Amino acid sequence: MVEVIVEIEKCTGCAHCRDVCPVNVFELKPRDEFPSVVDDPAVAAKFQFRGEKSIVVHGPDCIVCEACLFECEGECITITDDEGKTHLSTYK
Ligand code: SF4
Ligand code: SF4
Repeated sequence: MVEVIVEIEKCTGCAHCRDVCPVNVFELKPRDEFPSVVDDPAVAAKFQFRGEKSIVVHGPDCIVCEACLFECEGECITITDDEGKTHLSTYK
């Protein structure tokens, strides 16, 4: 089964993952729902953090098209495919 993980500390809430995913793996939630999460300072130095965070809601539906991996500002999405291979995000 495919596994999709978002490192929430690095998620800027840019919503690119949600917008490009063809199978609705991601959902954006208000930042207030994660009061204990500290935004990653290295990501904050490069990008503005919005008022939301992305969470994985339909991870097993992922078809490993990799679209989200190139759009993720925080480079915080990791996908493990059916064969156990890891796919990391690299912002284009
Ligand atoms: S790699 Fe998976 S999670 Fe990412 S956009 Fe494609 S289907 Fe969606
Ligand atoms: S693309 Fe990355 S940084 Fe942007 S909302 Fe999705 S997980 Fe967060």
